[in-house]
Amino acid sequence: PVERSFHVWGTALGDGHFALVFHDLGEARRIDRMRSDFVANASHELRTPLAAIAGFVETLRGPARNDEKARDRFLTIIGEQTARMTRLIDDLLSLSRLESRPTLDLGQKVDLTAVVREVAETLGPVAAESGVRLELDVDQVEVGGSRDELVQVVQNLIENACKYGASGGRVLVSLKQADQMEAELSVRDWGAGIASEHLPRVTERFYRADVQSSRAKKGTGLGLSIVKHIATRHHARLTIASEPGKGSLFALRFPSKFV
Ligand code: ADP
Repeated sequence: PVERSFHVWGTALGDGHFALVFHDLGEARRIDRMRSDFVANASHELRTPLAAIAGFVETLRGPARNDEKARDRFLTIIGEQTARMTRLIDDLLSLSRLESRPTLDLGQKVDLTAVVREVAETLGPVAAESGVRLELDVDQVEVGGSRDELVQVVQNLIENACKYGASGGRVLVSLKQADQMEAELSVRDWGAGIASEHLPRVTERFYRADVQSSRAKKGTGLGLSIVKHIATRHHARLTIASEPGKGSLFALRFPSKFV
């Protein structure tokens, strides 16, 4: 059932009429609930690594103090958990910056080809570490918008493809001027894929499909929500096609008038 309640304000118009103003409380409540869910999720995600760090510091002070091997192991874990918190905070800051920024100047041209080449080069080591071969098939394409934000989109999509792609397989980044009108950026991998029940939710904040296997991968569950947010600001449409065991295709279509 759809929950709807209204605030009704009455005001006399002075000419014998009375105006009623309806204010939809259902929507206001929904936004309030989303906001408090977000704060609760963010706090929980930050608390988990923090609790691990606090726990291992205690162990290092006590039982592991004189055990060199244990000390090294625990310090490594503390380092990893610190990195996880840093990733989370960086992503949270990105989201909050996006939300507080005014709309984009889509008249500003960005050389998307250069962005793709640059990001692919920076992520070379990440691809190598994941054992994937990064391949580019890019036309010369310009779109209107923010270079920094587009860098983030390309980076998040390629990082995901490396993370969830098949080790020993390829990741294909393609950038095409679909016709004279639209431009399409796509990132394809031949990895684990996403089950259909998770597919509609992967762009939600903190949502991670297949918790067990994605827990093993480093991530915050915020990357695709950032991608979606930036896509919307650029009037681009994000589509995701995926089949478990076969791989995934993330595509962004930029409309003609901004290309
Ligand atoms: P994360 O930090 O977990 O990677 P994202 O928001 O980037 O967060 O992605 C959300 C979830 O979507 C991931 O946890 C993963 O389950 C799924 N996902 C994202 N990209 C891919 C991909 N290329 N292949 C398979 N699953 C993916």
